[in-house]
Amino acid sequence: SSTIVSTRKTNSPAQYKPEKWMLPGKVGDGLTQLNLAIVGHVDSGKSTLSGRLLYLLGRISQKVMHKYEKEAKLQGKGSFAYAWALDESAEERERGITMTVAVAYFDSKKYNVVVLDSPGHKDFVPNVISGAAHSDAAILVIDASTGAFEVGMDSTKGQTREHAQLIRSFGVDQIIVAVNKMDAVQYSKDRFESIKQQLGTFLRSCRFKDSNVSWIPISAMENQNLVTAPDVQLLSWYRGPCLLDAIDSLQPPTREFSKPLLMPICDVVKIQHSQVSACGKLEAGALRNGLKVLVMPSGEVGTVRSIERDSQACEVARAGDSVAVSLQGIDGTVMAGGVLCHPDFPVSIATRLELKVLLLDFAMPILIGSQLEFHIHHAKEAATMVKISSLLDTKTGKVIKKVPRCLIAKQSAVVEVSIPDFFSKLQTSFPIIAHCFCSFYYTPNFRSICTDQFVLRSSQIAKLL
Ligand code: GDP
Repeated sequence: SSTIVSTRKTNSPAQYKPEKWMLPGKVGDGLTQLNLAIVGHVDSGKSTLSGRLLYLLGRISQKVMHKYEKEAKLQGKGSFAYAWALDESAEERERGITMTVAVAYFDSKKYNVVVLDSPGHKDFVPNVISGAAHSDAAILVIDASTGAFEVGMDSTKGQTREHAQLIRSFGVDQIIVAVNKMDAVQYSKDRFESIKQQLGTFLRSCRFKDSNVSWIPISAMENQNLVTAPDVQLLSWYRGPCLLDAIDSLQPPTREFSKPLLMPICDVVKIQHSQVSACGKLEAGALRNGLKVLVMPSGEVGTVRSIERDSQACEVARAGDSVAVSLQGIDGTVMAGGVLCHPDFPVSIATRLELKVLLLDFAMPILIGSQLEFHIHHAKEAATMVKISSLLDTKTGKVIKKVPRCLIAKQSAVVEVSIPDFFSKLQTSFPIIAHCFCSFYYTPNFRSICTDQFVLRSSQIAKLL
């Protein structure tokens, strides 16, 4: 039974011809943008590290840094100065209507790096999902100090494993493991090697290739091995790159320049009547001022009034860029989780999806009727398991049982889930309030989805039903 609620005709992307301005020029287009998620267990030092990088790479002035250091000292929290600096810049960006998942920008030799995901203690996993959906690569921060690495790896309390699994599920296959707080273990080579060995085994089981994982011992607090070679203690045994060089060694991301526009919306700010600003990363295509874009799922067409990137106005944005786009002529709903697309190439909308899933460690069996939380790009929706079609062999992917009664941890399966229908909700609850409702979109080149934060991973939408 067809439950696709989109009434628009979908053209085949094969029919799409990009205009010349949409493709990047050969020279002088600046550095490639690299979206980098910084993830890891709470207190592993993500904020300190990001703040340090910003400062070292000249994005926070010395004057401002001194101010933070003074304040932090007064409160007896010296090393928190960098974390504060980062929080402050994130807050400023929010006010300046830039996307909230991009917390910082800095340049390496090769890349214009956008640091994703606000490192906070609240609501952590959804933030990681939002950040991971954007990212080309990730830094996994590990706390090397005695006992702390072990807590992070703990399957019930620790977030290290979960974050690694999540980012891999979103198609991120390059990762830098920043083994932080090396100062707390006297820059011990043995500790570093033991962490590398234990976590390495786990990363391999998440399908990270050894050649795509780099291991960098650092101390964010003592500024060791971040942007320059370390001091003698580390240098006595470590000869590898510093963190910034490891970032430069990442493979440049591939970008879908010549496909129709696709921008999943991660945040929306209402500017005034019929003018909103939508933030997100362009997954495909390009935008420029004056262009008409289709807002899904509401189906309204708006006009691009201005584009902002890294708090600065820009003329054109292309696949890979994280931007805030202000749109004119919109009366209805633009919401986080929605998608901006080309008016002639709309994304399809569905309320029922078939998924290929893998269950992670999870205590409860999943049955028909189980309630799940569904994430794709920035949409987050309550979903219901409506059918368990088949059980798959986790290695070969072959069907080993049809219509099993339930699913348990470590099983792989094809299932059907249903999500609320955006349009029926609209009819029953007029007037529309932005953000409240969201349906589900299938976008042709989405990365992957994640269902119920802790349960399923590596899912693929097999088809719309
Ligand atoms: P987050 O929760 O991952 O963002 O962690 P924070 O950046 O807030 O850091 C948590 C705590 O670890 C703070 O007290 C930091 O001062 C401390 N910390 C961060 N980096 C280092 C480091 O390299 N060495 C030591 N000894 N402490 C650190």
